Amino acid sequence: MERIGIYGGTFNPPHIGHIQAAKQAIPALGLSRLILIPTGVSPHKEIPEHSPTPRQRLDMLRIAAADCPGLEVSDMELNREGPSYTWETVAQMKARFPHDELVLLMGSDMLLSFDQWKRPEEILSRASLAVFFRGGKGESAAVAVKKAQLEGAGAKITLVENNVIDISSTQLRRLLAFHCADPFLPAGVGDYIRANDLYDVNADWKNLPMEELEQVVVRLLNPNRVAHVLGCRDTAVALAKRWGADVTDAARAGLLHDITKALDGPLQLTVCSEYGKLLSEFSRKYPRTLHALTGALVAERIFGENEAVVSAICCHTTGKADMNTLETILYVADYMEPNRSFPGVEKLRELAYTDLTAALKLGLEMTLEHLKDQGSEVSPESREALAWLNLNP
Ligand code: FE
Ligand code: FE
Repeated sequence: MERIGIYGGTFNPPHIGHIQAAKQAIPALGLSRLILIPTGVSPHKEIPEHSPTPRQRLDMLRIAAADCPGLEVSDMELNREGPSYTWETVAQMKARFPHDELVLLMGSDMLLSFDQWKRPEEILSRASLAVFFRGGKGESAAVAVKKAQLEGAGAKITLVENNVIDISSTQLRRLLAFHCADPFLPAGVGDYIRANDLYDVNADWKNLPMEELEQVVVRLLNPNRVAHVLGCRDTAVALAKRWGADVTDAARAGLLHDITKALDGPLQLTVCSEYGKLLSEFSRKYPRTLHALTGALVAERIFGENEAVVSAICCHTTGKADMNTLETILYVADYMEPNRSFPGVEKLRELAYTDLTAALKLGLEMTLEHLKDQGSEVSPESREALAWLNLNP
């Protein structure tokens, strides 16, 4: 009797986290083989627009799993009509391997929603579950509760510690658009993506007309940040009109200023190293503040923006000494756009139209106050900005 693992997913695209997890699961679970099954039509999540076809996802997964002993790839879900339900996959696998033991692999998030899957009892009657598990704080408690509940109903569940690289396909698609994904792609997958022009890797986004730029930006942002970014763009335009700055530059800087904000700290560092950017000590310590620098790099290299736009994006979180009008406008617009609400924002909005420098100073002071309350360090750039403002009131 063999012990056979089943590992399904959209694999859009497959990344080294998937392959490392699969490789570790084989010995950890004593599997004779592990079959990777790309979803045809996912019942759980929508496949984003501009995604590869199911066949292309299958091709990429075959490339990713090539030369990995024990890993196989199956197209069974692609060959079925309608949504790809796991219970059907498990039933089909059981028919193919009637005398073998099946183990269904899944992430802990999937275990937590297991009750809402279609026909969970049919899955449990034919397979045991193996759950990849990182062991974060909230995760441990929730997984333990759900595991006990399902085991009470007769399920067999093994937890597999997952200490592989932490990257999601959503983040990877952003990195692909920024030409920074290679460290996370299995050998050959990057070449396949480029050869087939997937995930916008070959798109020319330099000097896009304004409406097209907005569409691309909205696609790359975290959905909950779109309103902020559009609000910042509109506010920057209004301030540019008030203070005689270039309105187009203000709009483009507003649209692009948070373009890399969705990437977490480690991925910010990835963008810097892929672009060959050396970092200050402060940036390495607080990589979250890096989105201004990485946003400027992406604005320059991917979107071909001019120097004025790039430098405004680069200092939009910290400020710096000697800020020009556009830099000041973006800093202030980011702070006061209509979706912001905090004590003092009304004062800032008023000052922005009467005394722009005073608005900048107020913004910097509020940031410093906030960082102090949090016990966080202030960046050297913010200190220099305030020193400069105090010398030139
Ligand atoms: Fe920002
Ligand atoms: Fe912002």
